[in-house]
Amino acid sequence: MSTPDYIPVNDWIAHHARFSPGGAAMHDLASNRHFTYAEMHERVDLAAKYLRDGLGIGEEDRVAVLCHNDTDMFEIQFACRRLGAIFLPLNWRLAVPELEYICKDAAPKVLMYGTELTEEAVEIQRLSEVPAIASLNNGGDSDYEAGLAAAAGAGVAPVVAPPRQLTDIWTLMYTSGTTGRPKGAKITYQMAVFNSIQCVMTTQITCNSNNLVFLPIFHTGGLNVYGNPMFHTGGCNIVLRTFEPDYFLALLSDKKLNITHALGVPTNYLMMAQVPGFADADLSHIVCLGVGGAAAPLSLIEDFGEKGINLQQGWGMTETGPLGLMLSGDQAISRVGSSGLPPLYVKLRIVDEDENDVVQGETGEMLIKGPVVTPGYWNREAEHDDFFTADGWFRTGDAARQDEDGYYYIVDRTKDMFISGGENVYPVEVENVIFQLDGVLENAVIGIPDEKWGEVGRACVVLKPGANLDEAAVIEHCDTQLARFKVPKQVRFMDELPHNATGKVLKHELPRD
Ligand code: ADP
Repeated sequence: MSTPDYIPVNDWIAHHARFSPGGAAMHDLASNRHFTYAEMHERVDLAAKYLRDGLGIGEEDRVAVLCHNDTDMFEIQFACRRLGAIFLPLNWRLAVPELEYICKDAAPKVLMYGTELTEEAVEIQRLSEVPAIASLNNGGDSDYEAGLAAAAGAGVAPVVAPPRQLTDIWTLMYTSGTTGRPKGAKITYQMAVFNSIQCVMTTQITCNSNNLVFLPIFHTGGLNVYGNPMFHTGGCNIVLRTFEPDYFLALLSDKKLNITHALGVPTNYLMMAQVPGFADADLSHIVCLGVGGAAAPLSLIEDFGEKGINLQQGWGMTETGPLGLMLSGDQAISRVGSSGLPPLYVKLRIVDEDENDVVQGETGEMLIKGPVVTPGYWNREAEHDDFFTADGWFRTGDAARQDEDGYYYIVDRTKDMFISGGENVYPVEVENVIFQLDGVLENAVIGIPDEKWGEVGRACVVLKPGANLDEAAVIEHCDTQLARFKVPKQVRFMDELPHNATGKVLKHELPRD
């Protein structure tokens, strides 16, 4: 018997539209729109026709989407799947020069934008010469709704999507990196399928589950935990446009809405725990509140534990699907600080600088292998060996150790990075922007602890003789070039920076008080 050289990845939405057409698929809170799987299937079909016939999108063309969370983003993702096109969600927190770079690198054929971001979108299209632009308006008048209506009226046969190969790229998701320039992680169908299976296995998702999507959909957290796993299983995604702690608590407490799943970063839950009414809120219907992006502090886990909720800690990266470690809820307190164990299809190693496995209990860099790991970055194929070992393990840049039972703890990072409110900041990117200022001789950016955001940036700056720059000037300059979460909150002027023998700045010796 011959072995097929690929396993076809079928159309999830078409599947559920046949098996449970009346099942709830999506609920857009801002516009109060509800869609069953049959309705979503229909809109995805119209979106595919609009992209193909109205905007000329074909196989492997990139479709950029710059928009605050709404259900249209999920439709476009699945329309791309039907056409074999590549979904390119953009981080609207980035500044225009950053998005210009990404659009030049990914070269999308169209930029779809929420009307709340019209000004930025028009500028980005002009600067990066994207051939077409189309508006979205959360269900209101827009190019998108007009395109869907025209497609419906045209009476064209449904777009039948061939099964995709596991190795085909579905999404490009840009993450910043230690090189200081954003890199587009290729997200394949294989990654999406195995991430879905592993999320379902670790968080009790069923076709009756309701997931509150409040992390941004341009981010792997909003899209893939538990957005896509919900669509894979036939559950419902309830989409929140912007995060407000008191509204978040009200939604989670709403018995009629019956939210069973949600993923946040520690900052989200820390803010929610401060809302008056948190102590009295009844959250007993919730099955899983996931927390990722950083380790949740014990006090937070205890605050939720008192309400009968075990915050379930996970570890992941955009490049790993993201789920790569998960702690079961019943271990939340006994193993606080741990990110748990690898799910079924993930393999991990902890290695020293020579890539030899460390003795269990010792700290080293965590490497990961498995079907959820990216094949690499867009346009960076030549640099593959910087990101992977010779035998194909992906270098996470996170330092980890295992306890005597094999549970993993992320203890540090080997990559130069800090996390502010759940968003990664790579200091080199900020340092490059500060270097653009005339009077700057040298600078180094570090993350310092912050009660609200976890960490915030501090720039340590050495001025050229006679230069005249103050804190406000440095911050204002960064503000024009960088997303707000990357802009340093403080600037420390110093006579010199500490260096090692080869001239590298010793960041651990910079002032952190
Ligand atoms: P996300 O923030 O959704 O996990 P990113 O790709 O933006 O995905 O960031 C990945 C990085 O976030 C990891 O390499 C790691 O440094 C950090 N991170 C993620 N989960 C944890 C965790 N549980 N504990 C500590 N750091 C984490």
